[in-house]
Amino acid sequence: MSSTEIDLHQQLKKYFGFSQFKGLQEQVITSIVNGHNTFVVMPTGGGKSLCYQLPALIADGTAIVVSPLIALMKNQVDAIRGISSEHGVAHVLNSSLNKSEVKQVKEDIVNGITKLLYVAPESLTKEENVEFLRSVEISFMAVDEAHCISEWGHDFRPEYRNLRQIIKRIGDNIPIIGLTATATPKVQEDILKNLGITDANTFKASFNRPNLYYEIRPKTKNVDADIIRFVKQNEGKSGIIYCLSRKRVEELAQTLQVNGVSAVPYHAGLDAKTRVKHQDMFIMEDVDVVVATIAFGMGIDKPDVRFVIHHDIPKSLESYYQETGRAGRDGGEGHCLAFYSYKDIEKLEKFMSGKPVAEQEIGHALLQEVVGYAETSMSRRKFLLHYFGEEFDEETGEGASMDDNVQNPKKKHEAQEDVELLLKVVKETKQ
Ligand code: ADP
Ligand code: MG
Repeated sequence: MSSTEIDLHQQLKKYFGFSQFKGLQEQVITSIVNGHNTFVVMPTGGGKSLCYQLPALIADGTAIVVSPLIALMKNQVDAIRGISSEHGVAHVLNSSLNKSEVKQVKEDIVNGITKLLYVAPESLTKEENVEFLRSVEISFMAVDEAHCISEWGHDFRPEYRNLRQIIKRIGDNIPIIGLTATATPKVQEDILKNLGITDANTFKASFNRPNLYYEIRPKTKNVDADIIRFVKQNEGKSGIIYCLSRKRVEELAQTLQVNGVSAVPYHAGLDAKTRVKHQDMFIMEDVDVVVATIAFGMGIDKPDVRFVIHHDIPKSLESYYQETGRAGRDGGEGHCLAFYSYKDIEKLEKFMSGKPVAEQEIGHALLQEVVGYAETSMSRRKFLLHYFGEEFDEETGEGASMDDNVQNPKKKHEAQEDVELLLKVVKETKQ
């Protein structure tokens, strides 16, 4: 099979009902269909799943998709089954299946019905699964959320480290596709090295979000009052306020309520029923504001979140980017306001002190980037995109005027210090 023989647009329409590819999808799919190792870096919501789903549907054999979260796999399998007349077109293989279910999955694969097989990395390490997969036709292997392979990623999973060896055992010439929304050069390098695909065709989408306005304000003891004022000025708009601790989430939600703001708390300490209720209230716009820990947000797709406030500064710029990225999904206004005090950095450093030294060092380096970003007087968008290995022209780039530093430039000598700071950070991260 090669892409020249297939009308990809027709296949896109047939399976997904879309008439156009999004961003780099077509190029990525062409690379996969032609059997190349492929590496895809696209922001969340960029449409990475389709990049492997479409080639899997049109290829001979079964594509194996490695994904870290069972809930995500289930969603994807249900979605794929919805577009095909064949129930067995997509399966999950994991430890929750009973014997007869496993038998059915294997039968569907052997019979060429199953085009996508979702597996968690720990299921792939099971000898019987490796033996079975060796014996059937595999079209390619997709590693979703591939940053889990890197200790520099925000979600390191040791089981991801063995993937390369297992893939080799399943088949020496199976094309490998890595996909991630983590854009830092360091994580990317780790992914390519660990998956053994340094020769991969790489496709990287821009991480610029031109409609987001970035602002950092000093965090004082009046931070709650500052937040209340901001929220009141934006009455009727949907917003998320992130706090570090559950306790702070509860307190701030209450303070907001007392001050007449419709707000609910959300954190992992609440029971599942309450969490679902609060999430639904936010999505259905029964409340304007959700005050949350980082437990809130994964997989929540509310297009018209108008502001994201960080009561506490996040522990890395990846987290900051992910969390602020939940604003303005619809392309409309999205104000990203973070309160910053160096004391909070020290607090985060202290949290890490019990961890292994290597982890502490990584955590420290990531925090230094956050400090650099918070304290810079240059274009925040430029700083952020530079961190993700992307050039940004602060004169002509899209969204160039959309931050506090560009709107209210600091004096020249201060700016000079910032440039020096940035250069230092860049040097340190390259080491
Ligand atoms: P990612 O994994 O990159 O975060 P997803 O694969 O979950 O993104 O896709 C995000 C959304 O984009 C989904 O709702 C998906 O249906 C939609 N999407 C993907 N490709 C296209 C396309 N070509 N046209 C329209 N919508 C698309
Ligand atoms: Mg995805």
